[in-house]
Amino acid sequence: GAMRHLPYFCRGEVVKGFGRGSKELGIPTANFSEQVVESFPSDIPTGIYYGWACVGNGDVHKMVLSIGWNPFYKNIKKSVETHIIHTFKEDFYGEILSIVITGYIRPEKNFDSLDALISAIQEDIEEAKRQLDLPEHLKLKEDNFFHLPEGKIVNKH
Ligand code: ADP
Ligand code: MG
Repeated sequence: GAMRHLPYFCRGEVVKGFGRGSKELGIPTANFSEQVVESFPSDIPTGIYYGWACVGNGDVHKMVLSIGWNPFYKNIKKSVETHIIHTFKEDFYGEILSIVITGYIRPEKNFDSLDALISAIQEDIEEAKRQLDLPEHLKLKEDNFFHLPEGKIVNKH
């Protein structure tokens, strides 16, 4: 299943998503470009994961991530979206997002109502926060992967 691919390291540009209104729900998701998604193992299961994330050369934060089916491509291509558990002052489209996926929470699900969806995501976030405090996950926060070499940092501000 999912575990044999983890930890999974990934870095790429944040692109505009398909406006599913994640931000309006209070859970914005930074979408990776199609090229980055294509680089994922094709047999990695869809579902909800957690790990660590960093924008540009910024701080490393906890995150939850969804690997799902991309409605833009009639669900034949995947989408990878990261919700960083941190409040940012500004959007960061075009910046480089670095992530390490350390654990798996659950498969994709359909929900009967928006309220049910939102509470499931809030539970996912709480689960991620708890798991990421455990030593085996916490250690990846300090991984050298997050220390970008000088000159390779993309920052549009
Ligand atoms: P889109 O459909 O373009 O992905 P979203 O509603 O999912 O729109 O919002 C995602 C954007 O919100 C990200 O690309 C990023 O620029 C911004 N953003 C602000 N705070 C966060 C956060 N905590 N986690 C993820 N993205 C965030
Ligand atoms: Mg999004």
